Amino acid sequence: MTDVKLGPITMLVSNMETAEVAIIGGGIVASSIAYHLTAAGCKNVLVIERESAQGKGSTGKSMGGVRAQFSTPVNIQMSLYSIPFYASFEERLGHPCGYRPQGYLFCATSDAHLKYLRANYEKQISLGLKDVRMISAPEIRGNFPQLRSDDIVGGSFCSSDGFVDPYSAMIGLMTWAADHGAKLWKNTTVTGVQQDRNGVTAVETTRGTVSTRNVVNCAGAWATSIAKIVGIDLPVEPLRRMLVPTEPFDEFPHTAPMIIDMSNGFHFRPEARGFLLAWNDPEETPGYKIDFEPSFIEKILTRAADRVPVFENLAVNPKRAWAGLYEMTPDHHPVLGAVPTVPGFFLANGFSGHGVMHAPATGKILAEIMLNGKTDLIDASLLSFSRFAEGRMIEETALL
Ligand SMILES: Cc1cc2nc3c(=O)[nH]c(=O)nc-3n(C[C@H](O)[C@H](O)[C@H](O)COP(=O)(O)OP(=O)(O)OC[C@H]3O[C@@H](n4cnc5c(N)ncnc54)[C@H](O)[C@@H]3O)c2cc1C
Repeated sequence: MTDVKLGPITMLVSNMETAEVAIIGGGIVASSIAYHLTAAGCKNVLVIERESAQGKGSTGKSMGGVRAQFSTPVNIQMSLYSIPFYASFEERLGHPCGYRPQGYLFCATSDAHLKYLRANYEKQISLGLKDVRMISAPEIRGNFPQLRSDDIVGGSFCSSDGFVDPYSAMIGLMTWAADHGAKLWKNTTVTGVQQDRNGVTAVETTRGTVSTRNVVNCAGAWATSIAKIVGIDLPVEPLRRMLVPTEPFDEFPHTAPMIIDMSNGFHFRPEARGFLLAWNDPEETPGYKIDFEPSFIEKILTRAADRVPVFENLAVNPKRAWAGLYEMTPDHHPVLGAVPTVPGFFLANGFSGHGVMHAPATGKILAEIMLNGKTDLIDASLLSFSRFAEGRMIEETALL
């Protein structure tokens, strides 16, 4: 457990802007931390976003999938907080997040897949997930006769998995926080972090210096450059992911879950009157590439038609397809919590493609660590920055 608490709120320079906590970046993770801190009684949280609007980082590019079907206990636990949070979002925040519990259906095409899904299922059930079950090949075939199922040997399905609208969730969280005392600065880039021998004293921004004892790095795929400012080498790499929305299409049910073809990772879900297609191209290499590569369309449509023969008839407008960045860590888990060498500097980075679904839990965990020095939601030491240096990585294999 991390035992670092919020430092004292100190007025370092009388006319300087002050914040109890300054959050760098204004995506869904920052918004959730702002919400949870404010809801816990923090009066002066400042979120600093360099763009003219929120959502221009990865949050606005996300597929919006939320699932508890993971392979590691800590990821499952984060979803066990986050998904019910999304289910009651409108009630809590007075703003919609578009949660649609249509499920995730993993389709196994080998006995090894099935064994893997069963082991995950048992872990999920033992941690308290109620809505997940193993599903037989005939049932999958019966529910979705449009799937080519000659090689499907079974699968797993969780009915409370589903989709949210990431942009709406982010705005809901930030609006609630702002209505209760938090501030959002847009068009403001963080350029420096000042420290004295007790730790962080201020953040430097293009709008001036902000006196604060507590800073959270929520800069998404750009988190390494913020970490460098305080001398930390954060192992978070940007990796391009591309999504292809289709034109309206009615030959597959719009009530379908996210369906994952485990033979190659192709997955899709209903979106508006069409479908949203995704596939992790193994040839993709790390880097800040956010242009959509047109040749990806043929690659993904080949996989789409292979699993769903009626998808031969899909129409796609390449201009509507897009690319964004995953923020990958070596073990595909986020890095959360304090940095012992820099008192007052906290990390909420490296979600490896799960930052929307784990934003609620992250907000809760960071708020608890900052305010109470510990969290009961997970064993936070598992996700600490020091795990890399100490060789304590925990691999998540259920990646999409
Ligand atoms: C194609 C795609 C599909 C995805 N699908 C899913 C999914 O189905 N489910 C899921 O859970 N996740 C998904 N993800 C991942 C998810 O979108 C991210 O994990 C999540 O959005 C991360 O949120 P964030 O707030 O940490 O980062 P971001 O949303 O990237 O926000 C970081 C912000 O920091 C700002 N910033 C950076 N540097 C500075 C600075 N110096 N000063 C001020 N501001 C700065 C940026 O402008 C940006 O707005 C997907 C991602 C992509 C690209």
